[in-house]
Amino acid sequence: MQKFQQYINGAFSDGTAHFESRDPATGQVWALMPEARRDDVNRAVEAAERAFFSPEWADMTATARGKLLMRLADLIAENAETLAKLETRDTGKIIRETSAQIAYVADYYRYYAGLADKIEGAHLPIDKPDMEVWLRREPLGVVAAIVPWNSQLFLSAVKIGPALAAGCTVVLKASEEAPAPMLEFARIFDQAGFPKGVLNVITGFAAECGAVLTRHPKVDHIAFTGGPDTAKHIVRNSAENLASTSLELGGKSPFIVFEDADIESAVNAQVSGIFAATGQSCVAGSRLIVSSKIKEAFLARLKEKAEAVVIGAPDDMATEVGPLCTNGQLQTAVDLVAASEKAGATVITGGKPLDHDGIYFPPTIIDCSAAPDAPCLTHEFFGPVLSVLSFDTEAEALSLANDTAFGLASGVFTKDLTRAHRMIRGIRAGIVWVNTYRAVSPIAPFGGSGLSGHGREGGLQAALDYTKVKAVWLRTSDEPIPDPFVMR
Ligand code: NAD
Repeated sequence: MQKFQQYINGAFSDGTAHFESRDPATGQVWALMPEARRDDVNRAVEAAERAFFSPEWADMTATARGKLLMRLADLIAENAETLAKLETRDTGKIIRETSAQIAYVADYYRYYAGLADKIEGAHLPIDKPDMEVWLRREPLGVVAAIVPWNSQLFLSAVKIGPALAAGCTVVLKASEEAPAPMLEFARIFDQAGFPKGVLNVITGFAAECGAVLTRHPKVDHIAFTGGPDTAKHIVRNSAENLASTSLELGGKSPFIVFEDADIESAVNAQVSGIFAATGQSCVAGSRLIVSSKIKEAFLARLKEKAEAVVIGAPDDMATEVGPLCTNGQLQTAVDLVAASEKAGATVITGGKPLDHDGIYFPPTIIDCSAAPDAPCLTHEFFGPVLSVLSFDTEAEALSLANDTAFGLASGVFTKDLTRAHRMIRGIRAGIVWVNTYRAVSPIAPFGGSGLSGHGREGGLQAALDYTKVKAVWLRTSDEPIPDPFVMR
């Protein structure tokens, strides 16, 4: 059985304990993972703090930091296949998706490598003739980066990339559900030549590893991706150290299709929006809001496509929908479908787990026209389950779209330009995709509001968010300071 190690202060070690990781496609234990307990977490944070103040890192030029990040990007690209296979094995995410995504992760590091020496301060036109005042942008300090199991290499890149570009140091807590890709990533990171302690990678459970990390007095910022309930724990923990937080949480994103849309294109985008990544995507377009004029035709075509999806082993390139990552998600799907049917919703296709040793739930479509209060419309499944509503007017479409506590992503399908602009303005979400869905780039910010969290990842602002501003005042007069009792 494969055994993984944690990475603290530039060295690999066993955790205080170990735990088993299961392959979601077979249900079998395949690897032993190092469990970080209190002492491991403390060592990791202290290593990050020492590195933050060490001359090797603190005095390194931004250009040199950028070069190290570029080297890391090249190493990720060289090792993309190994990383993709590990992520597929540990999470069940299909190899088609992990291979493409990890190759692109290298570009995220390249983007932040290029940004490292473009994080500029400013000079202020101050209202006093004998003063020069300028702003230095300085790194926030020690960052605790916490990621969920899905797309960990990607979700950690949008934290580690800008944090290191800005000069912070990082303790990354990989998800205990599937830490293998992040622990392997640490091996790759180790070859890039960063000073020891700049990045530390640990994994463990919420009660000890997560709690000790997020309350640690030496942590300055917590960059979290995960569920809203976990985020609430983390924010409560941060009352101990007053660390700032950025929170990338879940969603119940609307996917709106008007009657003039290109149906085939919208159906394909909807398939991608809810069944790709087996629905385990924070931006899943999980609420279809379709014009009543085309509802029947649209659903017929969507059902046909959903039933033709190739369900199979995640390491098979032909597979389109693989297993869910955890048994908890399967139970959530079963319970939510049952509760929604009880509320009057109708399952059009799917709806029941497959008879399989792995954790399989098929592409599912639920018509909620007769059940506007069905729980499937408000609760995130994190699985391949689509809930459907219809509308008669544009105002109704917008009102249904915004009828959610989340605010992460949205999709609008229409050929009417002015209507598209009205929808863009009216939708309350961090991302609006028009006539496309699930497109991402290192250049574009990503994030939400409400129960979807706050803060943005990706883009220039994300690097600035890992800095704090220091105001510097320099008096240029040689005259003695006048009346010391009057504030100048
Ligand atoms: P989760 O919230 O259960 O866990 C996420 C991470 O938080 C894990 O590493 C976990 O160990 C850690 N954690 C749990 N409790 C903690 C605590 N009390 N203190 C510190 N750390 C703690 O999420 P999950 O089930 O792994 O992932 C699915 C969720 O993530 C979904 O809600 C999904 O929408 C969300 N997600 C959001 C984005 C985004 O960018 N907005 C991206 C991917 C996933």
